Amino acid sequence: MTKDDQAVTPSPPGYRSGFVAIIGRPNVGKSTLLNQLVGHKVAITSPVAQTTRNRLRGILTRATAQLVLLDTPGIHKPHHLLGEHLVRVARSTIGEVDLVLLIVDGSVPPGHGDAHIIQLLRHHGTPLVVGLNKQDLVVPKRGAELQRSYRNLVGRCPFFGFSALSGAGCDQLVEGLSQRLPEGPHLYPPHAVSDQPERLLLAEQIREQVLHLTREEVPHSVAVNIEDICEERRCTRITAVVLVERSSQKGILIGKGGSMLKAIGTAARLQMQILIAGPVHLELFVKVSPHWRRHPGRLAELGYGHG
Ligand code: GDP
Ligand code: MG
Repeated sequence: MTKDDQAVTPSPPGYRSGFVAIIGRPNVGKSTLLNQLVGHKVAITSPVAQTTRNRLRGILTRATAQLVLLDTPGIHKPHHLLGEHLVRVARSTIGEVDLVLLIVDGSVPPGHGDAHIIQLLRHHGTPLVVGLNKQDLVVPKRGAELQRSYRNLVGRCPFFGFSALSGAGCDQLVEGLSQRLPEGPHLYPPHAVSDQPERLLLAEQIREQVLHLTREEVPHSVAVNIEDICEERRCTRITAVVLVERSSQKGILIGKGGSMLKAIGTAARLQMQILIAGPVHLELFVKVSPHWRRHPGRLAELGYGHG
């Protein structure tokens, strides 16, 4: 933590901040959007810090606003929407945020799942913004028609078309969300996210075990990238890749019949479980990436870049 983070940062007058719940059916591009917006800066919260209802996924700090993007468990699964429990979860989450961002796949017409979610949202009156994702797949001729069908379904509320994949239109989306947040100070230190402490800490657990268990054979040409962190009902599923520069190093890391990788994974997992105070399922891969240290993009991805 830097000195900056600890200081109470005065927010400029007119600054806006708030919580945004991102909801939508599976495969509409929620994760892609999160990655596009926060990228490698996605903040992973430990279960200690999170409630069972709200999951902090990313903090987006801009010059005029700070957005805290939240996942809403369960609500994205249409067949679960009928379940009383999940409706309750969704209800409390939606009730606690300043804004709901409903993501739909704007390249196809609305489906039953969308109608269900919208019905649920109507109940609550939390301000709603609709994101029509996957605009890169929409042929101009069909764009207006598709948008009309979503507008008919949702009714009056702001719409933003974008491509989470390419990033086109995402700035306007963030701007639109920001404008609809209440005035308020930073909710988190502006630099807290770029440090990405949790993700780096998790990666460090693996790197530590690699260095520890392989000793001098696989020295510092090892990097660990946490590819995915998925909060499941019973555990946190973590997918990680260990990058080495040569295939001989890969062989050492995997070991006879996979024994070394297994030992590394087990030891790292135990540490991770302490770190996040809950069960962890770790999926560990080894990849040869010659000269990874010379690729600025790769380094940034691994959290070594500026940011
Ligand atoms: P989620 O289940 O809502 O989190 O959806 P994902 O973010 O996992 O995306 C599902 C699939 O849609 C993936 O294959 C993405 O690459 C793809 N996808 C997401 N956004 C876009 C987009 O803007 N354009 C295109 N062409 N594909 C996208
Ligand atoms: Mg996803």
